[in-house]
Amino acid sequence: MSLLKINNLYKSFEGVKAVNDISITLEKGKILAILGESGSGKTTLLHLIAALYEADSGTLTLDNERITPPSEKLIAGHPDIKLVRQDYGLFPNMSIRANIAYELRYYEENYRNERVDKLLDISGLAHVQYHLPRQVSGGEQQRATIVKAIAEEPKLLLLDEPFSHLDAVNKRRLKNEVLGLIKAEEVSCIFVTHDVADAYAMADELLIMQNGSTLQLGSPEEIYRNPINNYVAEITGEVSLSSELGTVDSAVLRFELGQAQLRTERRTALNSELRTFLRPSQIRVSEKSELKALIQKIKFLGAYYEVILQVEDFNLKMYSFEKLCIGEEIGIEIRQFD
Ligand code: ADP
Ligand code: MG
Repeated sequence: MSLLKINNLYKSFEGVKAVNDISITLEKGKILAILGESGSGKTTLLHLIAALYEADSGTLTLDNERITPPSEKLIAGHPDIKLVRQDYGLFPNMSIRANIAYELRYYEENYRNERVDKLLDISGLAHVQYHLPRQVSGGEQQRATIVKAIAEEPKLLLLDEPFSHLDAVNKRRLKNEVLGLIKAEEVSCIFVTHDVADAYAMADELLIMQNGSTLQLGSPEEIYRNPINNYVAEITGEVSLSSELGTVDSAVLRFELGQAQLRTERRTALNSELRTFLRPSQIRVSEKSELKALIQKIKFLGAYYEVILQVEDFNLKMYSFEKLCIGEEIGIEIRQFD
């Protein structure tokens, strides 16, 4: 069932089209990630959804009810939609527990205490509940902020770059914890990020924005496999682009030679993909293959090696778990995504 429906939403600031014809549908319980460079309109879009900004035109509904814009209300915002901004937003002189309890101050005391206990438990913050924000880690502060936002069981949680000021280790841990929290509370969520790894780790759907517009909307896997253009291909992962493959025709021709054994229809599909890009995971070492590549560069990346191959006059990027040798010639196989 769809929770949020956005149709043809527009918002300009002094001639800048911050949000330019965005339409999205979000199903209940799903997580949407928004990816785009600075200034692409991500924050503006979240503020429009949260009814903190007035749209120029377009419609927004939550559970089939119109989201009332700020101009029609005394206080901007929506009771069932919570936005967590980039800064932490905790009261510095209140304990973590008091910060969470504050969100539930209008509720009856027994319910409030029970709910706070549950939230502390599922967020793993119980052991620091009597600490002040400055006495806990950045990851714990960020988790507490998110817990505050979901305390009242909103239908929709909006997170604006929730992981941006954390180091890699804390970030990885927090992503898992936030995902657990969102799933445990069955809240739908839209989060903004400029790291595609966040989207792959958490999102059911991915929206790529550029200059206020939708470039591509789909599941992370669909977009990874079928990016609509080179820009989307590049921001969603490692890729060998056709511009770097030498002339497209020569690339296609070479691959056709190497792929001669493939069925015609598969070859056609493969070639249309090759016109724009190849992901490293599509290239495999295959001793028997007639398609030969020269190993040009090898980079150690921890769990695997990044290998730059030269095939005739173009370069391809591949991953390998085995240590290969520069200058060695290997057979390779190009796979289509299933
Ligand atoms: P993002 O969050 O993707 O970095 P924003 O939504 O913050 O992008 O901004 C999109 C565009 O709108 C930018 O060009 C920005 O300068 C402009 N913009 C955003 N908010 C305002 C505002 N309150 N007043 C004027 N211009 C704004
Ligand atoms: Mg922003």
